[in-house]
Amino acid sequence: MTRKISILGSGMAGCGAAHRASEQGVGSVMYDMKDHYGGHTASFTFDNGFTIDEGPHVSFTKIQRVKDLLAECVDGEFIEHKTRVNNHWKGHWIKHPAQVNLHGLPGDLVAKCIEDFVTAMHDEHPPIKNYEDWLLAAFGPTFARTFPMEYTKKYHTTEAANMDTNWLGPRLYRPSLQEVLSGALSPKTDDVHYIGEFRYPKQGGFKSYLAPFVAKTDLKLGHKMVGIDAREKVLRFANGESEPYDELVSSVPLPELVPAIDGVPDDVREAASKLACSRVVIVTVGVDREDLIDAHWTYFYDEDYFFTRLSTPHLQSAENAPPGCGSIQAECYYSDKYRPLDRDPGDCIEPVIADLERCGVLRESDQVLFKHVMDIPYANVIFDLDRRSALATVHGYLDDVGIRYCGRYGDWVYTWTDQAFVSGEHAAQKAIDGK
Ligand SMILES: Cc1cc2nc3c(=O)[nH]c(=O)nc-3n(C[C@H](O)[C@H](O)[C@H](O)COP(=O)(O)OP(=O)(O)OC[C@H]3O[C@@H](n4cnc5c(N)ncnc54)[C@H](O)[C@@H]3O)c2cc1C
Repeated sequence: MTRKISILGSGMAGCGAAHRASEQGVGSVMYDMKDHYGGHTASFTFDNGFTIDEGPHVSFTKIQRVKDLLAECVDGEFIEHKTRVNNHWKGHWIKHPAQVNLHGLPGDLVAKCIEDFVTAMHDEHPPIKNYEDWLLAAFGPTFARTFPMEYTKKYHTTEAANMDTNWLGPRLYRPSLQEVLSGALSPKTDDVHYIGEFRYPKQGGFKSYLAPFVAKTDLKLGHKMVGIDAREKVLRFANGESEPYDELVSSVPLPELVPAIDGVPDDVREAASKLACSRVVIVTVGVDREDLIDAHWTYFYDEDYFFTRLSTPHLQSAENAPPGCGSIQAECYYSDKYRPLDRDPGDCIEPVIADLERCGVLRESDQVLFKHVMDIPYANVIFDLDRRSALATVHGYLDDVGIRYCGRYGDWVYTWTDQAFVSGEHAAQKAIDGK
């Protein structure tokens, strides 16, 4: 029986691992390089009364066990929302998903989208080699090129032709012809977004869900892992400490984990360096007004808008802003491989505010009470055409040296919080079972 599991990372994946270890009566120690726990699901409350997460985080899990567990973590003190999502394109505000909400867009564009959609439904399409092929086959060229292919460049920072389709799942809604026609003719449509509702803690931000999990482990903050001797089973940290481990579960991003392992072969190191991920600069602006925008999040398609997505922390919980105030979080995406961040993150605040005014979310009369910027080096795994084979090499090596990986950046997938948690549970179970 394993005596103790060492867990690298205190996000949802690390919490899943700690939870499983505790359930099985196995001790664990959890290390995180930061001075707070939670990874992407950390939240921060400021003296001025604004609370923000490390990027917008809401729970829309469909896994009933995880749903119940999270509810228990906050003693049932969560808010359940019916999701409101929209899009912004060339000055038009469009309900999401756009493919079934074309009403109000220029007539010639709508007609061409429908014509293409019908043709795409009936025509034989060439074999799908990449995401662009998939989009063209699913929606036809006009819609594909006007909306998702433009969004792809902003969100994934690369062209759709450079991506595979393994990440899609339910993310892109494929409508019937009737739904496309109804949405083109009428402003009122059914809600078909794959996230119909979501939950969010009443107080303290998303991080409130995590407190009971970290209480089940021995949490060591300020421990940045910089070296692993997988043969002698020793971890080395940037603060100079070394710790032996019995079994290791890591949620550290693979491009950071692999070079830290002693004696890692060159081909594995090279494979890890090919794994691409976007980074996101999150700009939050708090103002003295709450009726900023009536959506929980909004996708921005136009290249000349500085941000890619907006969300509204005060609509997730009113406790996230002082009474009568509101806040907007803007996500601005970059990637070292395809679209490097071209400025200091702090220099993203002013262009975000300018574009919030341009699209009418902020008014000149608004008093800005709070400005905040975060630079998050690992955001969304990019499913580019290098990923699959590079990942197989890296995971094969980690299996060989007995390092269990988990979470979004250990599995190197496009998982949500619930999936990251379950991934951590599975990794811990493997460690416990010695598999
Ligand atoms: C902008 C954004 C918005 C999102 N919104 C949602 C949402 O609304 N709902 C949803 O379900 N999912 C959302 N996600 C996805 C969600 O964030 C992830 O699926 C999940 O949080 C990943 O958890 P994790 O534990 O795998 O990774 P992380 O949360 O990144 O945790 C990894 C941890 O490892 C630590 N670490 C890294 N390197 C080292 C090292 N060398 N030594 C020690 N510690 C280290 C980090 O500090 C971090 O705490 C969003 C993601 C992003 C980027």
